[in-house]
Amino acid sequence: MPISRIPAAVVFAFAVSAAFAQSIPAQNARPSSLAVAASDETKDPKLEHFDPDLADKSLDPCDDFYKYSCSKWTTANPIPADQVFWTTGSGLELWNEGVLRDTMEAASKPDANRTAVQQKIGDYWAACMDESGIEAAGMKPLQPELARIAAMKSKKDLTAEVARLHHLYPGAWQAGDNQSNSPLFGFTGAQDYDNAAMVVAQIDQGGLGLPNRDYYLGTDDKSKELLSKYRTHIQKMFILSGEAETQAAADAATVIEIETAMAQAQMDNVKRRDPKNINNKMSLAQVRELTPAIDWDMYLKAVKAPASDHYIVTSPDFFRAEEKLIADHPLAHWQAYLRWWAIHRSAPLLSKAFVDENFDFFSHTLAGQEQNQPRWRRCVHNADRDLGEALGQAYVDHAFPPESKARTLQMVHAIETALNSDIQSLSWMSQATKEQAIVKLKGIEDKIGYPSHWRDYSSVKIVRDSFLSNVGQASSFEFERWVAKIGRPVDRSEWTMTPPTINAYYDPQLNTINFPAGILQPPFFDPAKDDAVNFGAIGMVIGHEIIHGFDDEGRKFDAKGNLRDWWTAEDAKNYDERGKCISDEYTQEVPEAGAGVKQNGLLTQGEDTADNGGIHLALAALEADLRQQGKSLDDKGEDGWTYRQRFFLSNAYSWCANVRPQIAKLVVTTDPHSLPKFRIDNVMSNMPEFEQAFGCKAGQKMVRENACRVW
Ligand SMILES: [Zn+2]
Repeated sequence: MPISRIPAAVVFAFAVSAAFAQSIPAQNARPSSLAVAASDETKDPKLEHFDPDLADKSLDPCDDFYKYSCSKWTTANPIPADQVFWTTGSGLELWNEGVLRDTMEAASKPDANRTAVQQKIGDYWAACMDESGIEAAGMKPLQPELARIAAMKSKKDLTAEVARLHHLYPGAWQAGDNQSNSPLFGFTGAQDYDNAAMVVAQIDQGGLGLPNRDYYLGTDDKSKELLSKYRTHIQKMFILSGEAETQAAADAATVIEIETAMAQAQMDNVKRRDPKNINNKMSLAQVRELTPAIDWDMYLKAVKAPASDHYIVTSPDFFRAEEKLIADHPLAHWQAYLRWWAIHRSAPLLSKAFVDENFDFFSHTLAGQEQNQPRWRRCVHNADRDLGEALGQAYVDHAFPPESKARTLQMVHAIETALNSDIQSLSWMSQATKEQAIVKLKGIEDKIGYPSHWRDYSSVKIVRDSFLSNVGQASSFEFERWVAKIGRPVDRSEWTMTPPTINAYYDPQLNTINFPAGILQPPFFDPAKDDAVNFGAIGMVIGHEIIHGFDDEGRKFDAKGNLRDWWTAEDAKNYDERGKCISDEYTQEVPEAGAGVKQNGLLTQGEDTADNGGIHLALAALEADLRQQGKSLDDKGEDGWTYRQRFFLSNAYSWCANVRPQIAKLVVTTDPHSLPKFRIDNVMSNMPEFEQAFGCKAGQKMVRENACRVW
């Protein structure tokens, strides 16, 4: 389930690129140029289990620990042709998906005794897997939408059509720099920044088909070439939908012109990291005045928005520019723009020609994927997105026993205790700020595995014979569910990730940490392994999410989730100095993403701070745990490695990854997370505890001269 609030709850790994690649599923029989099996050929998905002997002992751990820990694994596990990256968590992903597939397949068999939940997930599966029915229908399911757009009489009709598109396609109402899949703008119910107990209307910038504004504005040859390929793709899609070639070329040029102007007007993703920049409150009268070309009253009625105390307009400048843009372009241009969005967002749900062309640009050219995922995996991703909490119930029953929940909760408590001690002992923070930090820490709600009550999908009409209709139904439900929250008190128990998701998040406005059952599996949480291995892998993830409450963004919210400054000026200054050490360190060249590609440490500062702080907390929690058992970190286990060494090895192992250069570039330029190699090497080279584990000496690469430490 995508994140809808801004700031987005801060996710864990590859989230943007994975979600991006998966949101554009398509089918393609292109033969692979790599001699690697497609992922579906892995009949028996393999869960990876940590083994310290996977380390390459011919290498020096103090030179490049990621390589030392991962090179054996990465050499033995090339990226399958239908994937854009492959990690030690990828076997788990296939395994999780296999559980969901088996559940849906069983539910799809017609049976009068099916439960309501089984009917939904079973018929959804049957409709999605019915390739011949989808092929026979061609673009017929899309015709009514194109006819509506053709029937528009004036630019006054623009608003009603945008409201329809926001309903029809998954996440088509969400905007934000990494989710630019919202025609014209984004709209949702969101927690108020200044009164976290209340939900208000939020109007966000949007309008882009490419991942973010940089893709339109780059002036180097590569960026220009990519934009030109995007234009060709749009033209091909128009031709597929029945337009003549010259018309399609002209319409594609119009779409590029409009989207580029919107990109120019968007606030960039570094500026958006500071919530103060997007917390612009307006009355409805002010919103009407800001963009009179959008009929806001009609829009709010069409999306059934309750009255809002005020409206948060994340980027007023964007809407000023959009007003001018609407005035400058004739109706025919806006019809082309809307037609593009309707075709673009339906493409993965239509016949093979649409699916293939969509794959060719978005997954192959943009992300480097050689071959599309098998149909069943795409149907699992769609079902997880659309009916995630219906499907998630079966996953939890199958894969998440109460013992796993109890042991992970125990680890969470141990790590929270470690942060409590860390805060108390900080030399750079005053007593006054410490007290506030402890209040915030104690206010965190720990959510483990799955929600306390399941979402009710009874109003979502799922049929056996129309995949497009099912997705439209589920999307409308989800959109209106968020909008309906406006004016209501916040429900802290809700999740924005589904139970089988291999990810985790901290939500700064709810002050909750959330660990779906999907990540509480090997190699992240391994019930068969000891505490050193588990604190190294999932423990670091837990610490990471807790630290998000105290990173450069999270620290601006208080225990209740209000955007409120609880820091003394002196402590804030001290924090910023430490944060700058991190952002300077991670502002680095990334040759594996292409020549000249550079990471912006200001974009990744929050995630990097969470990585660096999270591992300290996990190690401290392990040390306390061993002490209770009368042991120390430097005692050796039966395998000859010390607990301290196994902790670091297990941490690195959980991050081993092969990544295609295209996706590496996408991550470096758009994702607030660093690439896996840096999540190991940068973090550990900041830690004296690591030097001690492997006897590293000053001057070696894993011993950083200017080591950073925030938490
Ligand atoms: Zn994170």
